Amino acid sequence: MFARVIIDIAHANVDRLFTYTVPEELNVRPGQRVIVPFGAGNRKTEGFVLELSEKTDVDSVVIKPILRTMEPYPALTEEQIKLAYWIAGSYHCLLVDALRLMIPAQMRGSRIKEKTVRTVRIRQGVDAKKEMDALLTKAGVSRAPKQTEVLELLFQTGTNMSTVDIAAFIPGAAGAIAALLKKGILEEEGKESFRNPFHHTMKKKTEPLPLTNTQQRAFEGIVECLDKREGTCLLYGITGSGKTEVYMQAIARVVAEGGKAIVLVPEISLTPQAMERFHSRFGERVAVLHSRLSAGERYDEWRRIRLNKVDVVIGARSAVFAPVENLHLIIVDEEHEPSYYSEMTPRYGAVEVAAKRAKLSGAVLVLGSATPSVAAYKRGLSGTYKLLSLPERANGQPLPEVEVVDMRNEFLSGNNSIFSASLYGALKHCLDAGEQAILFMNRRGYSTFVSCRGCGYVMKCRNCDVSMTYHKLGEMMKCHYCGETTRIPTVCPECGKPYLKYFGVGTQQVEEQLLTHFPGVSTVRMDHDTTRTHNAHEALLSRFQSGGAQVLIGTQMIAKGLDIPNVTLVGVIAADSMLHIPDFRSSERTFQLLAQVAGRAGRAKKTGRVILQTYTPDHPVIELAARHDYPGFYDYEIGVRRAALFPPYGLFLRLVLTGENEDILAEETSRTAAGLKDAVEAALAAAGATGPELLYMEASPAPIKRREGVYRYQVLLKFARTKHTAAAIRAAYAFHDAHRRPGMGDIEVNPTNMF
Ligand code: ADP
Ligand code: ZN
Repeated sequence: MFARVIIDIAHANVDRLFTYTVPEELNVRPGQRVIVPFGAGNRKTEGFVLELSEKTDVDSVVIKPILRTMEPYPALTEEQIKLAYWIAGSYHCLLVDALRLMIPAQMRGSRIKEKTVRTVRIRQGVDAKKEMDALLTKAGVSRAPKQTEVLELLFQTGTNMSTVDIAAFIPGAAGAIAALLKKGILEEEGKESFRNPFHHTMKKKTEPLPLTNTQQRAFEGIVECLDKREGTCLLYGITGSGKTEVYMQAIARVVAEGGKAIVLVPEISLTPQAMERFHSRFGERVAVLHSRLSAGERYDEWRRIRLNKVDVVIGARSAVFAPVENLHLIIVDEEHEPSYYSEMTPRYGAVEVAAKRAKLSGAVLVLGSATPSVAAYKRGLSGTYKLLSLPERANGQPLPEVEVVDMRNEFLSGNNSIFSASLYGALKHCLDAGEQAILFMNRRGYSTFVSCRGCGYVMKCRNCDVSMTYHKLGEMMKCHYCGETTRIPTVCPECGKPYLKYFGVGTQQVEEQLLTHFPGVSTVRMDHDTTRTHNAHEALLSRFQSGGAQVLIGTQMIAKGLDIPNVTLVGVIAADSMLHIPDFRSSERTFQLLAQVAGRAGRAKKTGRVILQTYTPDHPVIELAARHDYPGFYDYEIGVRRAALFPPYGLFLRLVLTGENEDILAEETSRTAAGLKDAVEAALAAAGATGPELLYMEASPAPIKRREGVYRYQVLLKFARTKHTAAAIRAAYAFHDAHRRPGMGDIEVNPTNMF
């Protein structure tokens, strides 16, 4: 028997399959991790067995044997192997990088031990083969088949094994293990238990709630797909509409039929409260995967999933790779979240991966959101996705009243503070009544924009419909899309008044000003500065939640998932600050964030109030957000995208190059751009494209031109999306492969940020 093995070394030169022989006594299966001799010195190296065959064309003289297996079971399922091939092809990465996504990082290099359970092994000095023979009758049949199986498994593994793992492979092995221990053939090594990532005792089990009529229709829509084991549903439901209840009932249905489910949630919403909801519905058969788990916890959870001890996996982006077999359902909550895109190699999109995985396993994909991505909603409207809507809150409460405050008037009438008269009054009222408030301030330090406090004018690029960014270095304004630069005017070009201001108010300034207006008020501030340490996020939230502070001030990390009955006021300090980030998604992100933030108020009996402060009250995004009108927003935004040929009608490719010497880098970037352009145009022509599909291409300094002492330049290409686009991307990838050098980044498709 021969095994085709990929070596666990991330290098293009060895990213292919090598053939090894499988020694007789090893039972190797595809997906199993093995140790093989590799390279000139026959170094012991880890690898993954991807294929097995009876025959090989490789010369038998050079074939070496597999030395041993690393686990007694395949670490990868066959479906994961297929998925890895797809990822390598679709996201242009090494196959081994794609395979590495599928197992906990700590497993590689044997950096982690199964710390967890009672383990047994064959006693030193015992000849296992002889003991197995001793169990045979004259006819060659084992008198104790279970004992034979256990011995065989342990013999193959060559090390100790947890009794839990043994039982997973040999049901009912406990008796056999006990007998073998008693006979002195096995010896025991220690007792421990699985690490439990739910750091709390389980609360009472919850029962499914009777669904509202609209929930029932959505649930039935999902069930129709489940019965066919195919399809994608887009569950568009406003905040508080009860999407989670629908998810849980769909999962319960899947589990009742013997299937399993994966639930993806943005990392930031994976709070203990959110996990508790699933835990108390599905009990012990839930596993969680998120970045706050310790290496040991992560490994244990992975193993519980791999050994089929759970029905439901809930986790952040990478949980889409969980080794779940018999997968019937994948749910992606908050489908629109940018955090589903990985910005590290491999640059995958978890929603796309989920779609592919669902296809491979015959599972149904459910995408949920209160503010779906423009691309997803478009598919919902066209029928590619089944569109299911939950337009009301489950408890019948109306969405909170939103008041839009025109900050231009505030300024002109002499109010220089960051709080409008209206927000000030509402804060006072809220605090006097002993209720709680949330103040939202989204600040991205480097994205300061220039705007006129007199008329609301924002400096925009004359070529692109995006605002220009203030660059401290050189004191100038610059467009991050086309590279256009201008000087900063001293008076507003629109109204001629000297009221231009740099916007970049941060959470800290909000807190300071709040304390000046309301001395003694207790506050909690949550932003990247205050939540750096391990459990700070949860600690700060729970302080606010338990009433330990009256006002929560924070960035977008507070926008999601908070459900605090005593919060009656939400203030957005600068609703338009995100609108002017130079990114084609800035309207979409602004709408999404405003809808999320507004959804925090008045979740319970007390009615809530939301105040949006803005310098552009007439901007369609602000108006539509204030009316909670997602479909209206979609209509507006898709029109803008179509006109500008922005995604989904167009497509951006970007390649960042870095180097120490700016002149050399600039020259190299131009050369790369020219080569890339030729390659892409040739591919488009060969594919039969006739129109101008490559809309523009530029080589320029990256928006952040120098980072940590290194210069950054970029090649940016914009395409109109047609049936030929895939050929263009493939050509770009091929060009990249042929010209790769240190300092050249990945090809980014519609990069999640353009800096
Ligand atoms: P979403 O996920 O859409 O934001 P949730 O699932 O968190 O909404 O539901 C909001 C609130 O409504 C929760 O407190 C939930 O327990 C409650 N809820 C959901 N469905 C029902 C129902 N059918 N009957 C009563 N309450 C419900
Ligand atoms: Zn521009």
